[in-house]
Amino acid sequence: ANFMRVIVDAAPPGLDHHRGSDLLCVVRALLKKIRRRVLVGDRVLVGAVDWADRRGMIEDVFERRSEVADPPVANVDRLVVLFSLDQPRPEPATLTRFLVEAESSGIPFVLVFNKVELVDEQTIAYWRDRLKSWGYDPLFLSVDKQSGFNALEEMLGGQTTVVVGPSGVGKSSLINALRGNQNISEEDPIHKLLEQNSKWFGEQRVGTVSKKSGKGKHTTRHVSLLPVAGGGFLADTPGFNQPSLMKVTKKSLAETFPEIRKMLKENEPSKCLFNDCVHLGERGCIVKGDWERYPYYLQMLDEIRIREEIQLRTF
Ligand code: GDP
Ligand code: ZN
Repeated sequence: ANFMRVIVDAAPPGLDHHRGSDLLCVVRALLKKIRRRVLVGDRVLVGAVDWADRRGMIEDVFERRSEVADPPVANVDRLVVLFSLDQPRPEPATLTRFLVEAESSGIPFVLVFNKVELVDEQTIAYWRDRLKSWGYDPLFLSVDKQSGFNALEEMLGGQTTVVVGPSGVGKSSLINALRGNQNISEEDPIHKLLEQNSKWFGEQRVGTVSKKSGKGKHTTRHVSLLPVAGGGFLADTPGFNQPSLMKVTKKSLAETFPEIRKMLKENEPSKCLFNDCVHLGERGCIVKGDWERYPYYLQMLDEIRIREEIQLRTF
């Protein structure tokens, strides 16, 4: 069976002292049948509780505020979009893809640059100014030197956070640095049960058999939420390192660029002449092309347009 660890935050009258403790739960078969996947981070209704054994059964899943697909976590409050100032250096095009992906998720996010100790003050100032002109106010830190953590840790308090970013920027290192010492004691009965089942806190995803080779492709992926200082949670698995842009449409792309949002706002109450203007220099468009990331906007618009046309042909 697949176990999920559930923290009790409301208990029936008389059982209030169980708040804050945890239960090891199985998911009710019926939920699986109606294809309601229980994700790590979900708020759930637990029944059939055995308080002595600390066991229960997840019977229902409450509505989600948000959902991240990679890693699969529900009710995420914030994304940390992590880049490094060196090794690897920030690529404006990649940076833009990540920012667009984060913007389109609808989840608040903070842009963080790691490895500050590898560069000089001027380089930091350069990226700060450049990102400011894009409409962002990034944080700078070094996981290695454990410096610059305060502002980030303050943000994580009481939130559920997922770290995303390209490979090599220090996502795993950051997660390790932020995880508190709240490791569950080995004496904890839940720990023992989980050890026996070798499935921590939650979701376990086993890769499907690849159609081409017929061989089993076991990409066992597994995410848990780590408690962090300040009462928040951090996904122990870094998120997507390649933005899919699947949530972005031709129409919504413009909304993911702060530069365009600003131009439209400054021109209020005037609007582009056409309601479906995608700001390619159409007649009566009020969005100019004289900003640094406009070429990226055009490129991405093209990519999305092609994707949408292919979909139109397919369906
Ligand atoms: P991920 O691929 O984003 O998860 O990156 P990792 O956490 O695996 O880190 C990639 C490499 O960057 C490792 O060799 C880390 O030791 C290194 N690294 C992480 N943080 C820092 C830092 O603040 N400064 C420096 N110089 N290296 C770092
Ligand atoms: Zn326009």
